[in-house]
Amino acid sequence: MKFEIKNRDAAGRICKFTTEHGTVTTPNLMPVINPNKMIISPREMKNLFGTEIIITNSYIIKKNKKLREKALEIGVHKLIDFDGPIMTDSGTFQSYVYGDIKLDPIEIVKFQRDIGSDIGTILDIFGTPQQTKTKAKLGIKETVKRAQQSIHEKGDMILACTVQGSIYPDLRNKCAKELSKIDSDFFPIGGVVPLMENQRYSDLIACILASKKGLNPSKPVHLFGAGHPLIFPLAVALGCDFFDSSAYAKYAKGGRMIFPWGTEKLDDLDELPCCCPICTKITAPELKKLKEDEKILELAKHNLYVSFAELKKIRSAIAEGNLWELVERRASSNPYLFESMRELRKIDNKRWLEQSESISKNKALFYTGNHTIHRPIIYRYHKRLIERYERFFDISIVFPEGNKPYSNYYSEQIGEINRKRNDVEILINSHFGPVPTELDEMYPFSQSVFPKTLDKETEEEISKIFDNFTRDREIIFWEGNRTLQKLSEPQDKIKYDRDILRISAVANMQFGKDASKALFDGETKIIKSKKTGKIRNIYCDEKHTLSMRASDGMFTLKIDGAKFLHQHFKYPRLRVTIEKDAVSFIKQGKSVFSKFVLDCDPELRPFDECLIVDEKDELIAVGRCLLNRSEMLSFNYGMAVKTRDSIV
Ligand SMILES: [Zn+2]
Repeated sequence: MKFEIKNRDAAGRICKFTTEHGTVTTPNLMPVINPNKMIISPREMKNLFGTEIIITNSYIIKKNKKLREKALEIGVHKLIDFDGPIMTDSGTFQSYVYGDIKLDPIEIVKFQRDIGSDIGTILDIFGTPQQTKTKAKLGIKETVKRAQQSIHEKGDMILACTVQGSIYPDLRNKCAKELSKIDSDFFPIGGVVPLMENQRYSDLIACILASKKGLNPSKPVHLFGAGHPLIFPLAVALGCDFFDSSAYAKYAKGGRMIFPWGTEKLDDLDELPCCCPICTKITAPELKKLKEDEKILELAKHNLYVSFAELKKIRSAIAEGNLWELVERRASSNPYLFESMRELRKIDNKRWLEQSESISKNKALFYTGNHTIHRPIIYRYHKRLIERYERFFDISIVFPEGNKPYSNYYSEQIGEINRKRNDVEILINSHFGPVPTELDEMYPFSQSVFPKTLDKETEEEISKIFDNFTRDREIIFWEGNRTLQKLSEPQDKIKYDRDILRISAVANMQFGKDASKALFDGETKIIKSKKTGKIRNIYCDEKHTLSMRASDGMFTLKIDGAKFLHQHFKYPRLRVTIEKDAVSFIKQGKSVFSKFVLDCDPELRPFDECLIVDEKDELIAVGRCLLNRSEMLSFNYGMAVKTRDSIV
């Protein structure tokens, strides 16, 4: 099995998952195929929806003599006529629904192996939401034991070890950690169907996050039994890679249509609110009049079109860097889901999500409502403002939200203030919270769109952050001439260079406290763009140390800048340490692959600039991280750092 990250946003990722029967792009959906009764054949699914991977039930195959013998003879791929990757389920869910069914946990794994399943599943113990913690504990103990036994029988098959633990996050986490110790390559999160059926989305989020926190990040995660697109964006943002859908068929049989915002009964619809190939060629009254079998087929097709379309949208949102927006918009369509988003505000969850959050994105940040201010990237900014931002002056003059960048919008007023005194901080009480003008071109301040009027909750949140940032200092709210008159002239009229303040502030926010001392400790020359007047390149003692990117107002680190930071910051700050064997490749400018990474600064985030060093902490190159620390240390495939410049 090969699994590597190609792109990312939130804790979601686009990966290539390779099995013996081909490569699948994740996040992806496996339609459930009932070998006894296929509404749509897997072959047709591939043609119609581009289905890349499917799931079928080994318990159902094994139970039926004819199917069992045929599967053992020709293999599961020929049995259901699909040449792509096939996952098999073990019968866990059947034992949950129908009570005790006679199944030997090891036999069913052997059977899946023998019929040539690409991904076989252990027979885990389904943890129901209503069970006691003691019972849930016993359940995960047995599940882990069975996983340990099953691993010896898997052969070449990928073994899916399902995380259980009912609604108890600590048990979920424990189970995930125990299973990660086993040489397993695939982790479903099980026991969540009753949570989704009862719209208990807060519990669902808690279960996913607790499991993810305990799992090895380099392995695919499958939200078992999740087949409704309503929760796809959120589940992907939390790090789920696979879904499976029996919903398309089940809902079709019940005359129900799946939509990204929920489910509608065909009988209630006068018009089909959809443009899929089915809904474009038929009207609602015509669809209602079809024979039962035909109607089910058309509804099932519509359900799959919609489900696969939503996954395309999600993958596209990851590539564009606006997955959180999609999550928030989708959550707005269901009050239970909307409410459950509060689970993400818990500090532990924010901290965990922040680790996967990229440093900057391709697209501007859009406000969608009261959940936006709690996004990990904004949480990071507020945290860094307190921990990394260095105050230059004791007095802040505060302006309200304005057009961006703020220093252009308020340039006239700032000029008037600076003519009187130059030693004041200009602070914007923005819709993000406090933004010193030095940071106003850095992502996401300049690259964000908020409405003029905010919701009350966001207002309260930012005023809390503003108060925290400005306590213990003198703040003056800008009132035009009145403020200017009140402003006393300083005793020593020192002229501060606003450009130097700007590059210092950005460097500290981006590379850590004191980075400006390391980078600008000599004769600093700033080169600006002739066209835009914006800072482009920075030289220190004639050495080119940094470039400022026009797209996100952050620095690209040059090798001479890297040397300064390396000298100033002690190990492991900003470092990615690589194995001896990889050094010569990196020196030739090749990128760093995860399997060569020995260690990494825990503060580095995806798309951060980093110092590539050898085991003796000798600086070898400078590059841009694609993964965070825990990912670099666990992935066996794919790139960890894109090398930019190396010391030859
Ligand atoms: Zn449709």
